[in-house]
Amino acid sequence: MGTATDSTVDRPDTRRVVVLVAGGPEGRRPRVHPADQPLLLADDLAAVRGDGCFETLLVVGGKVAKPERHLARLRRSSAALELEGPSDDEWLAGITLAAREWGAAAEGMLRLVLSRGPERGGGVTAYITVAPVGPQARRARAEGIGVTVLSRGFASDFGESAPWMLLGSKTLSYAANMAALRYATARGFDDVVYLSSDGEVLEGPRSTVVILRDGELISPPGEVGILEGTTLGAMAEVAEREGITVRRERLLVADLLVADAVWLVSSVTLAARVRRIDEVTLPTAEPSIDVATLVDRAVGRA
Ligand code: PLP
Repeated sequence: MGTATDSTVDRPDTRRVVVLVAGGPEGRRPRVHPADQPLLLADDLAAVRGDGCFETLLVVGGKVAKPERHLARLRRSSAALELEGPSDDEWLAGITLAAREWGAAAEGMLRLVLSRGPERGGGVTAYITVAPVGPQARRARAEGIGVTVLSRGFASDFGESAPWMLLGSKTLSYAANMAALRYATARGFDDVVYLSSDGEVLEGPRSTVVILRDGELISPPGEVGILEGTTLGAMAEVAEREGITVRRERLLVADLLVADAVWLVSSVTLAARVRRIDEVTLPTAEPSIDVATLVDRAVGRA
């Protein structure tokens, strides 16, 4: 791929890599698809129903971070959707090809997309795209973020009692999450923390909430109907090797407001320190445990 640095400010970086993993006449052999050419049929159920699932991975130094965690979660999402996608080996062959095409010059955001395929039939469509990591993510890492708390409208036990809602799956139906982010941006915030209808802290529209309290890292448990974060999982592994406890515990907004530090963690933005929650400015002291460093180690950036 090109060598343009990802810090170009005024000209958006439009480089893309596309790899088709399943679908089309050639079956399941990963192949590079011209990034400026259409790939899906117009009736693909990903496009018309959001019927499928996806993963977003970081490419750093030409290597893909924690692919096995993403493939395990993709398998869980596709099982919940009753979708039979490519095998892990087929995905891995596509990921390797896409990362090689992208190169090591800039960080990339690599998506795995699994769609139910064309409505007319023909089976699943599976493909990979790579795009540059945008300036927003780099700013969030460096400067931190302001978040607004928004209701998701479901009780914290809804995920378990209503499996058809696919709450713990990473489905392609992200329009509401994107709308929540636009709603936040229009009000001067960078991101969102969702709350259940019974007042529990859930997650961000594309991130996991982590707080530091009394020397322990705490994040809400999966059973409140949230996506199990791969960044949290990889970070916890690194933290526990260093004797740092990472606990799962139900949290209220008050827990965030009195925490020693709060972060939103995710695969591409990595760790964004929360500086403000609605009108409340959070403590600015350097935390005793730096989640950003733990996450960097977990993804091979440090
Ligand atoms: N929660 C939601 C709803 C997400 O979309 C994401 C990531 O996209 C996360 C949490 C964080 O997951 P990960 O750390 O695997 O990126």
